Amino acid sequence: MRMIFIGPPGAGKGTQAARLVERFAIPHISTGDMFRAAVKAGTPMGKEADRYMKAGQLVPDEVVIGMVKERIAEPDCSEGFMLDGFPRTVPQAEALDAAGVGLDVVLVLEVDDELIVSRIVGRRSDPETGEIYHLQFNPPPAEIMSRLVHRKDDTEEACRTRLGAYHDQTSPIIPFYEARGLVKRVNGVGSPDEVTARITAALA
Ligand code: AMP
Repeated sequence: MRMIFIGPPGAGKGTQAARLVERFAIPHISTGDMFRAAVKAGTPMGKEADRYMKAGQLVPDEVVIGMVKERIAEPDCSEGFMLDGFPRTVPQAEALDAAGVGLDVVLVLEVDDELIVSRIVGRRSDPETGEIYHLQFNPPPAEIMSRLVHRKDDTEEACRTRLGAYHDQTSPIIPFYEARGLVKRVNGVGSPDEVTARITAALA
């Protein structure tokens, strides 16, 4: 299963991706997670990416494309993979195509902007378990509250910039894949279990 998962920031991709990769036993390749790891490790690429990420802007295509090509050439990707957060621009989609990477499905998770903003601003993650919470919609247990992390780009201002980037730069890749008959659209509004059920139905 070679799958691409597309959706605006805060659509619930992270939560659903974790369930899908378990079900299909494929590696979860999140370019956002790879950049956050590079920032934490203080690599030159991490330092460059951090400037864009903090502002909610996209990292330049050449940086992302090189990183993803290297990752999907690794042996654990031979039976498939889920790309989460890549491609995010038409040149990135074209680069994947040019590299001869065939795809089985492009899953698009749809949630409208105002709901996204309220989801993002209250989002917190647990660095120990990777679990994602929301202060109101999915409250974390009180005892782990102090270790939760609020992403630097999860402010309202950066969120609106990221939504702008999604509409301007990422959504044009949907028609690119629609022309190849690969797109399945799923409504991302509802509980995580409801959304998982819709994804399962869409992939059946
Ligand atoms: P995410 O965790 O997917 O929301 O990504 C967080 C940030 O990482 C984005 O706002 C971008 O700055 C950067 N990023 C992640 N994936 C890409 C990509 N495919 N192209 C450009 N920038 C990316």
